[in-house]
Amino acid sequence: MKELLAKRVREIAPEVVEWRRRIHRNPELSFQEFETSALIEEKLRSFGVDTIRRIGSSGTGICAELYGTGSGPGRCVGIRADIDALPIQEQSGVPYASTKDGIFHGCGHDSHAAILLGTARLLSEFRHTFSGCVKFFFQHAEEELGGGKEFMEAGVMENPHVDGVMALHALPDIYVGEIGVRDDFMTAGVDLLKIVVEGKQAHGGYPHYGVDTILAASTIVTALQSLGSRELAPTDCAFVTFGRIEGGISNSYIGGPVRLEGCIRYLRKTTQELFHRRVREIATSVGEGLRAKVSVEITPEMIPTCVDRKWVNRIRKVCADIDSVERVIDLPSPAMGGEDYAYFLEKAPGALFRLGVRTKGGPHCPTHSINFYVDDEAIPIGMEIMAAAALDALREE
Ligand SMILES: [Zn+2]
Ligand SMILES: [Zn+2]
Repeated sequence: MKELLAKRVREIAPEVVEWRRRIHRNPELSFQEFETSALIEEKLRSFGVDTIRRIGSSGTGICAELYGTGSGPGRCVGIRADIDALPIQEQSGVPYASTKDGIFHGCGHDSHAAILLGTARLLSEFRHTFSGCVKFFFQHAEEELGGGKEFMEAGVMENPHVDGVMALHALPDIYVGEIGVRDDFMTAGVDLLKIVVEGKQAHGGYPHYGVDTILAASTIVTALQSLGSRELAPTDCAFVTFGRIEGGISNSYIGGPVRLEGCIRYLRKTTQELFHRRVREIATSVGEGLRAKVSVEITPEMIPTCVDRKWVNRIRKVCADIDSVERVIDLPSPAMGGEDYAYFLEKAPGALFRLGVRTKGGPHCPTHSINFYVDDEAIPIGMEIMAAAALDALREE
């Protein structure tokens, strides 16, 4: 069985790589994945899946169901891939580069989509070996966030109820043949932060007649850095980052309003609560100490992804049996970016693992960079892990 699956992976790999290249050449931004989803739907139909449903406001997400025709406990497993691209100009130099100006699969979602298509094909060929259902989630709009939520609103985790989910994400920090896992948090929760500092205008030569908002705002920025390093256990991770400051009047006038925009990144719910409270307290008291008026607005944007140890162990187990997987690495820390696969994991236990995509001896091409690169050799590895893990879960008594 294991050998049969490995053989089919090798046989279909060139075709799956071709699908990946087709998607790569024609990248589409969040909520605009029209041709990508059309290609996915066409392929899914050719594999003979049982249902295909369009998801979301743009209709560019796809949820497909495949029912087993064999015997077994009748479980339901969900597998998710994101499919959207980024507003970046590609400079990777690959022969199958993006044909669209300023749009690029710089996060590897082209390979995620192709891997899930390949997995769907494999599982459709092996459907006589299990009972129950596999749901394939081709999720639109991960980069802009919103697609994951629309999948939840569409009720994809019910009817039939999904017992477990999995997803992978390309990681150029590790090599082809390497898989990265963690037993708890994989990505961070993100809350958006907006702080407005108001003071009193004055000529810069007479600062004592005004209230300097730039001084207050920059002191707030500095003071908030103490949260992560002084109010959090060193074993936890959370921090405040500002990505935008706007305000002031001119060289020689002070006191115009200043807006700070940033975010809070965290892992644990208790840490999120601590940061919400302390960001308000510090910003307000530091501002008031400098005679400024401060308002703070915090908007939750994304919850953390927390995986299930049993599911991660399943990934470890199937990887041990796959020849092309050279090693499974326990990643030392979560990625502190957001990932809306978190919504799937909120509804069912599951795994998220990192697929090594860096060419051995090749350069490091970071995620979201202009030269981001996925080595094609990683694609059959991802497919085999997904298919083997799904079969393992479907057959579990
Ligand atoms: Zn991304
Ligand atoms: Zn991504």
